[in-house]
Amino acid sequence: MTTHSLDTVASTLERLARIGGTADGGVTRVAWSPELFEAYAAVGDELRALGLEVEIDAAGNLLARWQSGSGAAMLVGSHLDTVPSGGRFDGALGVVAAVHAVRLLKEEGFEPSRPIWVAAFMDEEGTRFNAALFGSRAFVGEDVHGLGDRVDAAGTTLADAMAAAGFALADVAQANRIAQIGSYLELHIEQGPVLEAAGLQIGVVTSIVGLRGYRIRLRGEPNHAGTTPMSLRRDALAGAARIVLELRESARSRGSTTANVGKISVEPGGANVVPGLAEFTVDVRAATPEAIGEWERTVDEVVRRVAAEERLDADVEQTFALEPLELEPALVDTVERAAVVVGARATRLPSGAGHDAMVIGRHVPAAMIFVPSRRGVSHSPDEFTEPDDVEVGMRVLAETLRLSLRPE
Ligand SMILES: [Zn+2]
Repeated sequence: MTTHSLDTVASTLERLARIGGTADGGVTRVAWSPELFEAYAAVGDELRALGLEVEIDAAGNLLARWQSGSGAAMLVGSHLDTVPSGGRFDGALGVVAAVHAVRLLKEEGFEPSRPIWVAAFMDEEGTRFNAALFGSRAFVGEDVHGLGDRVDAAGTTLADAMAAAGFALADVAQANRIAQIGSYLELHIEQGPVLEAAGLQIGVVTSIVGLRGYRIRLRGEPNHAGTTPMSLRRDALAGAARIVLELRESARSRGSTTANVGKISVEPGGANVVPGLAEFTVDVRAATPEAIGEWERTVDEVVRRVAAEERLDADVEQTFALEPLELEPALVDTVERAAVVVGARATRLPSGAGHDAMVIGRHVPAAMIFVPSRRGVSHSPDEFTEPDDVEVGMRVLAETLRLSLRPE
């Protein structure tokens, strides 16, 4: 054993957190930045030291290949980019856990029946160019050329940022390697409070929730707040308030679904004027196509009924649609068995956030492993996962690889 192998996942994460580290204890490694490529170099060195072939592909994904056995590879990945002043665990933990899982398997002389690839996908977060999941989308062969003219806050286009880092948007189709992949596994922090609250160490993710986004406009009549009798008002904000509460009740009564109104504006916006117009967003999420369909009907029904009762005109516009993804049942079972072997306290749960697995998992069987997030905090310097939980997560990842890729 080398001294290197005495490293824990937590100590590697600690080293990585200094690359792009910020004064508030966070990490800033946005897409295509020098800091991100510095992190690639650090992780790439570790993977090379383990005997893997390392490259950065045409879409800026860090890829490492353990060419063992035959057939399509099992890909283990996540991302090393962060939001500005983000946490040190989001994404990075999945990549570092993959490195240590490979190290563990190598040390015990395990010879996988199929190749194992490790990936850090470019720009999962989408924070700089609003081009989230750029790398994994290119990896599965989606056409991402159209994103090239998106600009960051400084006015730099994505195409120019790629060029500055030594990449060409025109070459990005070369990153399509999905045909060489047989399955996908991703470890990630939960970014929610469920595991911690239940005293559990591992979340066996069953699905990634789908989402519908809406912009809703309610039109009533602006009028004098003192002289218009209550019974004659057409108050757009009062109607909006009823809808907000009804959607909340609807989500609460069904469980495992969420509804959120995160943005609202009211016109004309005077303290002594009855609101004539209310415009607000609705974000509803659920884990199955049936539940998403039910949400579509519910949003429509609630808005129409409340608008009619409040004598308002309603306009419902769907602005965003993302289908839920059911993870591969057999691979999910394997993750669950791996958790039993490792002796981890585990439960099944859906993921409320999107991940690279959502993109890759539409093409090949995929599964995800969650570890707890303290107080559910993420995208913040306060993001934290206990070192013990981090280590258990890595061991479940390694055991899943062992169970999936046993030599014949
Ligand atoms: Zn992430």
